[in-house]
Amino acid sequence: MENFSLYENEILKSTVRSMVVKNRVVNSMLIYGEKGLGKKTAADYISAMLLCEKGNGVPCGECKSCRMILHKTHPDVIYAAPSGKSGNYKIDTIREIVESAPVMPNEGRYKIYIIADMDSTLVSAQNALLKLIEEPPDHCVIILTAQSRSSLIPTIISRVVSLSVHEVSKVTCEAALANYGYKAENIKNSVEILGGNIGRCKSYLEGEDIVDAVTITKSITDAVISGDEYLMLKEFSELTGTKQMTLTVLKLLCEVIRDTVSANAGCGEKNLISTYKKGAVRLSEYMSKAKARKIYFVITKYIERINLNGNLNLALNALCSEIKEIL
Ligand SMILES: [Zn+2]
Repeated sequence: MENFSLYENEILKSTVRSMVVKNRVVNSMLIYGEKGLGKKTAADYISAMLLCEKGNGVPCGECKSCRMILHKTHPDVIYAAPSGKSGNYKIDTIREIVESAPVMPNEGRYKIYIIADMDSTLVSAQNALLKLIEEPPDHCVIILTAQSRSSLIPTIISRVVSLSVHEVSKVTCEAALANYGYKAENIKNSVEILGGNIGRCKSYLEGEDIVDAVTITKSITDAVISGDEYLMLKEFSELTGTKQMTLTVLKLLCEVIRDTVSANAGCGEKNLISTYKKGAVRLSEYMSKAKARKIYFVITKYIERINLNGNLNLALNALCSEIKEIL
């Protein structure tokens, strides 16, 4: 039988299940966590928890509602269309959602809006959404996803129920990947390198450059820890030539730096999310929260710049010296 592939994550499941069972479903939720952990799968899973005809908070995978959600054809589960550019959701897309929200659902009890990957959504668009989150119609459930809670404005964060997604155990990860039909030895290898992040392991098994990117990210983090500008430049120069790889590494690096901020705030290694948690913890011993934040913003600035087709070498050199200055 076809069913939803949200593995483990029992806290998230039991939180929402108890809302359904007690008939106390909140109108807005945020699912957050690192790329590849299944935030969008979790959003679908929650939709099915709310709309499954069995109504016991466990999606059966068999009823009409569940099947429509599995096939992404449920008329009451609406996916906001991203703009495809940085800045992500256009303000008009958000306004349409806000305007259509009062219209009653077609079939189900709830009308669910899934707005995924909100990380680079502009504050103006977020503010437009705030209106709906502040005064939602009873039948409306808004599910947001983002890698980090800090990507969203505090007024949204304070009004949503935040649910985190986590890595699964290695055993579960291997079993999940086996379901997709990958070879056992390749699976073992990917889980060894990337841990229980099913999405990242899948990217790796599909031949994407994620492992190289992870390795380079680690070297760059180590260079930042050493504070040696030349070493940093050398590691960054490994990237030159390929824009895609550069962007992947810079995004991974952003996650490490975000973990550094969390580690600095007392968050243990177990609760960090990046691909180099140890590095983040070590960095946090050298670097104040304020410095880490500055570096985070500098890197995101250069991601933007490289996205806009700036010269890759120049951008990386400039990035290096800005990081050095902050250190
Ligand atoms: Zn069902």
